[in-house]
Amino acid sequence: RHVAELIAAGEVVERPASIVKEVVENAIDAGATAITVEIKNGGMTFIRVTDNGSGICRDDVKIAFLSHATSKIRTEEDLDGIMTMGFRGEALASIAAVSKVELLTRCEEELEGTRFVIEGSAEQEISPAGCPKGTTIIVRDLFYNTPARLKFIKKDTSEANAVAGVLDKIAVSYPEVSFKFIRDGVLKLNTPGDCDLLSAVYAVYGKNFAKGLTKLQYNSGLISIHGLITKPEYSRANRSMQNFFINKRFVKSRTCAAALEEAYKGAIMIGKFPACILNLTIEPHTVDVNVHPAKIEVRFENEKTIFDLVYFGVKNALSTLKA
Ligand code: ADP
Ligand code: MG
Repeated sequence: RHVAELIAAGEVVERPASIVKEVVENAIDAGATAITVEIKNGGMTFIRVTDNGSGICRDDVKIAFLSHATSKIRTEEDLDGIMTMGFRGEALASIAAVSKVELLTRCEEELEGTRFVIEGSAEQEISPAGCPKGTTIIVRDLFYNTPARLKFIKKDTSEANAVAGVLDKIAVSYPEVSFKFIRDGVLKLNTPGDCDLLSAVYAVYGKNFAKGLTKLQYNSGLISIHGLITKPEYSRANRSMQNFFINKRFVKSRTCAAALEEAYKGAIMIGKFPACILNLTIEPHTVDVNVHPAKIEVRFENEKTIFDLVYFGVKNALSTLKA
């Protein structure tokens, strides 16, 4: 059973960036408005994520680390509506299976917080602890008990860059939340929170990128698209800045990228490729993320509908630009 657990954990936890993604999403789900992520050595020796969300009440702390323990799915419809990775209720259990975790948390209803330590799925300690409302999770020594996994880990800088990449995308999809990222003691990212998309993009990707963008907002029946696209003269040398989010989740979609580029055909471009930060709001059950739980490539029930939404949304925004 232990081996099976470790294998399952390895599916969720590939590298430090996958831990950061899961833990930060938990913080967002808990209603946090400020989230700080700190890593050392690319996250391999140390990851700390602090949030000011709901916290976890004492009696629920251990439960949160059981596999399939989730407070977020109650009915089958819930399950259907969740377009996420299919590892619901697996993240904390999986992380704790392959590292040494220390959790500090306090919920609104309790005066005293809880400290919980769990290493390689084995509980070490649970005790009362003074702490502000919210949660701090520290993950140390990733894969200390699964040395074979370490082979797949890259240099610290690559792992740290992967963490930064994950955070950049989350930060622009949640402008309402303030994010800080501290890497080996250096503040690398600081978004204001409680701001509009452009301000978040400015904080994450800088002034030069932000100044080339124009707004897009377009509805088509029950689905809609909004965000920012590059003015044609600010197009770029590659596709790396084509960012699509479905219901606030970063995805890769050939359909979306193709529609974006098609809409720029005929425009006078400097670089070859448009860039964007586009949020599509669609019915969750029309997205299929079945490919692989840890992968982000999506398929749509109706690819043509999505293509048209992006294409006409972008066309429309570009045409108002000329006027
Ligand atoms: P899931 O997010 O799919 O429910 P997780 O293993 O990621 O599964 O988390 C298990 C549970 O622990 C969550 O459902 C939530 O109740 C609780 N939890 C985890 N992180 C936090 C957090 N930062 N703040 C409050 N509750 C949390
Ligand atoms: Mg989770």
